[in-house]
Amino acid sequence: MWNEITEKLHEVLRNVMPQVDVVLGWERGFNPLRIKPVVVRSEKDISRLVWNPFCVQNLTGYLVKNPAVIAGEGKKVAVCVKGCDSRSLVALIQEHFLDRDRLLIIGVPCQGTIDWRLVMKKIGNTTTVFNAHIEDGILRIEHSGGLEQMSIESVLLRRCLRCAYPNPVIYDVLIGETVTPRIDKSELYRNVAQFEQKSLEERRNFWIDVLSRCVRCYACRNACPLCICQDWCIAERRDPKWVTQRPTIKDIFIFHSIHALHLAGRCTECGECERVCPVGIPVMFIKEKLNEINLRLFSYEAGLDPQAVPPLLTFNPHEAGI
Ligand code: SF4
Ligand code: SF4
Ligand code: SF4
Repeated sequence: MWNEITEKLHEVLRNVMPQVDVVLGWERGFNPLRIKPVVVRSEKDISRLVWNPFCVQNLTGYLVKNPAVIAGEGKKVAVCVKGCDSRSLVALIQEHFLDRDRLLIIGVPCQGTIDWRLVMKKIGNTTTVFNAHIEDGILRIEHSGGLEQMSIESVLLRRCLRCAYPNPVIYDVLIGETVTPRIDKSELYRNVAQFEQKSLEERRNFWIDVLSRCVRCYACRNACPLCICQDWCIAERRDPKWVTQRPTIKDIFIFHSIHALHLAGRCTECGECERVCPVGIPVMFIKEKLNEINLRLFSYEAGLDPQAVPPLLTFNPHEAGI
């Protein structure tokens, strides 16, 4: 199935190549579990592109953060997106960081992406992986220690276990059949509701416990397609200095609070911040709470409608409380 979709992707790209300067997609990395982003500029390299459940990266961040991914005059950038990635595109278009007319969006309905770290934990971190094969929801890994199999569901990223939008919400070409979401929209914030059953003290201790692992590497910020301040990020500015680099829990809290507040009403729950964290901190969970408030107060979910104006990007001077 993944090979068929990959072949279809190649076919589509060969047809559209005259209209585009750059294709942003995924290619195999140093082993079959490690797929990496690739920028393709000529037809001969289209065969490098792949699509399978190891294509974890949200590529849309490159469109605003990497000057190399720019189309020449009159041409477009083709970008491959899963359901969650497509929502980042919508948010970036809404905020005028991207021009819809310069994009050729290749949408791929997604059945979930695999956390290679969970796989390695199951087969042994020192093992060399030779082959990975997926069939009927089972992942079979051929490795230096033998053959192992596991259900896909047991190794999915957390974002995928709570995904209500696996099908791209915006695209020019859709490759593959649409898939049924794992959860209904109404269940999106059940984890937030469960967490709020805990006492204030328990919640505080939970966050102190997980955030004390934070090494302030800023991978979560860098991977976020909507974290766009880059060199102006408040976390590293010296003038004015809002937060120090000291590894105290207070400074870590301030950094994460600022990060979350800058994403309030904008975070599309693509889960990249959490996926890239080297110490496994569930940082998207903080944004889930903000999104739950956003939905409750403004009936708004980020990254679904390119024409919509995000509630926190506008205000009504006559609104109660302003
Ligand atoms: S969150 Fe949804 S669209 Fe994104 S990778 Fe997971 S299943 Fe696919
Ligand atoms: S904060 Fe995390 S989940 Fe939200 S848009 Fe950024 S990377 Fe995606
Ligand atoms: S990626 Fe993880 S360790 Fe790095 S700054 Fe973010 S939360 Fe901290």
